[in-house]
Amino acid sequence: MDPQVAAHRLTEIALLLEVRGENQFKVRAFVHAARTVQGLEEEDITPLVRSREISRLPGIGSTTLAVLSDLVETGDSDYLNLLRETTPAGLVEMLRVPGLGPTRIHKLHTGLGIETVAELEAAARDGRLAKLSGFGVKTAEKILRGIAVLRETSGKLLHSLAAAEAQRLRKAVGKLPGVVRVEIAGSIRRSAEVVRDIDLVVAVSGAANEVAGALAKVPGVQEVTGGGGPVVALRMINGVRTDVYCVTEASFPVALWRSTGSKEHCELVIDRLQQRGFAIRDDRLVDSKGKAVADVDEEAVYRSAGLAFVPLELRENRGEIDAAEAGTLPELVRLEDLRGALHCHSNYSDGTTSIRDMASAAQQRGWRYLGISDHSQSAQYAGGLDRDAVLRQHDEIDALNQELKGFRVLKGIEADILADGTVDYGDDLLDRFDYVIGSVHSRFSMGSAQMTERILKAMSDPRLTILGHPTGRLLLTREPFPVDIEAVIDVAAESGVALELNCDPHRLDLDWRWLQLARTRGVTIEVGPDAHDPDGLSFLDFGIHIARKGWLEVSDVLNTRDADDVVAFARARRESPAAGRKSRGS
Ligand SMILES: [Zn+2]
Ligand SMILES: [Zn+2]
Repeated sequence: MDPQVAAHRLTEIALLLEVRGENQFKVRAFVHAARTVQGLEEEDITPLVRSREISRLPGIGSTTLAVLSDLVETGDSDYLNLLRETTPAGLVEMLRVPGLGPTRIHKLHTGLGIETVAELEAAARDGRLAKLSGFGVKTAEKILRGIAVLRETSGKLLHSLAAAEAQRLRKAVGKLPGVVRVEIAGSIRRSAEVVRDIDLVVAVSGAANEVAGALAKVPGVQEVTGGGGPVVALRMINGVRTDVYCVTEASFPVALWRSTGSKEHCELVIDRLQQRGFAIRDDRLVDSKGKAVADVDEEAVYRSAGLAFVPLELRENRGEIDAAEAGTLPELVRLEDLRGALHCHSNYSDGTTSIRDMASAAQQRGWRYLGISDHSQSAQYAGGLDRDAVLRQHDEIDALNQELKGFRVLKGIEADILADGTVDYGDDLLDRFDYVIGSVHSRFSMGSAQMTERILKAMSDPRLTILGHPTGRLLLTREPFPVDIEAVIDVAAESGVALELNCDPHRLDLDWRWLQLARTRGVTIEVGPDAHDPDGLSFLDFGIHIARKGWLEVSDVLNTRDADDVVAFARARRESPAAGRKSRGS
C-alpha cells in the first residue's frame, strides 16, 4: 500500500467524522495519523504496518492502526466504507464552502435536513437558513458568497501545494525504466500563483506507452487515462490532474518550451519563427529546408525567432514579445538582490519567535537588516501592541542593534487602517517608527467607493510608508475587497507611498497583473514575507517570482535598498511639503 493512498483514506475518515459532529479527539487522531503516513519515505507501507512498527510513530494509535491494517490487507477499509454509506456525500462537499465549518454543517444537517450544496444554496436564498438559531441574515449572505467562490475555485491549487506534488511526481517518474529526463512544465514552471493541473515533460528511450504502464504504479496515481498517444493523463488520489508528455530526447527541449506555455505566448513565437522560415514539427525546430536544427535549447528557439530570451515568468502574452523584439525586456529583480525584509512579526504580537531569533534567521539568509512590523493596538485579535509594548519593543531593538555587527533591526509597525481611513495610534507614536505599513484587517464588506476612500485617506497620511496587502485577498478562499486599485496606484505614484507585494503564499497581494501597471507608473514596491516565524522568511523564495511576473526590476523594489535608504524613503515622505499640507488639512 502506497503511503499517499493510505493518507488520503485516513483524511477522508477524519472529514466524515467531522461533518457527522463526532468527538474532536477522534477526528484529530485521524488527521495526525494521515499527516504522519503522508510524510513517510517508503513506497510501500505494508511491512511497517504488518510489523506494527508504524505505531511507534507519532499520531498512530490503536484505532488508526486498525484502519491501516485493514487497508494493507484488503486494499480497503470497512470503517471508511461504513462512514461513506451512512454520511451524505454533500456534507463533505459543504466543508469546502469558505466560511462553513463542520460544526455549522452538522447543525444545518440536523436542523434543516440539508445534505447538498444545492440544498444549502436554496435554504440561504429562501430565508430558512437565516432563521436557524446561531445563523442569521449576514451568515446566509456570507454562505452564498462562499458557494460562488467554491464554484469559481474548484479544481485549483495554490502554487505551493501544486509545486510540492509536482516535485514528488518528478522524482518518482525519474526512477521509472526508460525515462531519460523529466521536468516540470506548465503554469507551475511559469510561477503561476494558482494552478489547475500539473504538466510533466518526459524524455523516454523507448515507446511512450511502455512508460504509461509504469506510471500507473507511481505512488499517488489513482487512474491513468488516454495513454495511447504521447500525452498520458493521470488522476492523482487527491484529485489533481497531471498531464505527462512523453517525447524522444531530441524533442525534449522544444516540448518543454511548448508545454511551459503560455499557449498564447508560444503561438506568437511560432508566428515569428515562421516569418523567418523556421517551423516546429514533432517538437523539433526545423529550418527552411525542413532540416532539424541540432542542439536546440530554449534560447535557440527565441534566437531563431529574432527575439531576446524571455524569462519564464514573463511568458504570459502581456507585451513580452514586443519587448523581446525591441530589446526592452526588463532586467528582472532576483532573490539575491533583496537586502532585507520589512514585513515580519515577532512574539510581541501574533508571531511565534523573538526579535533576536528572527534577526539571526535573517542574517543567515545574508540580509543586512530585518524590519519588525507587529500588529497595532486596534488589531486585538492578533495581539496588537499598546503604547507601552511599542516603547518596550523599541528599547529591545536599540539594545539588540548595539550588539549586532553589520546588521540592523528596523522599527516598523503594521498599523491597522481603521474604518474611517485613519491610521492606528496617531501621529505622536507613529513618528517613532522607522517606517509604517498600513493594512486593512477589518470591515472588508464595505462598498467599493467607501473602501477606496478609506484606503486613499490612509495613504494621504505622510506617516504611512507602505500599503500592506492592498486588496486583502486570500487565494481560493477570500475575494479581494472591492477597491479601485487603479486609483490606489495613481495615488501611490503621486504621493510616494510604496505598495506591498505580500508574499504569504495565500495572499501574493498585490496581484502581479497590477504590479506591472504600478511599475509603469513609477510606484515603489515593497516585497514582504509577512513572516510570523523564521520559516516564513522563505515566503520570499517564491514571492520573488511573482515580483518578476510583475516585470519588477531592482530599482522598483524598496527592500533591494540599504537600511538607511529605506529609513530615508519613509522620512522623505513625512517631510515632503505636499504631505505636510495634507496632514495639516485633515
Ligand atoms: Zn496584515
Ligand atoms: Zn502582517
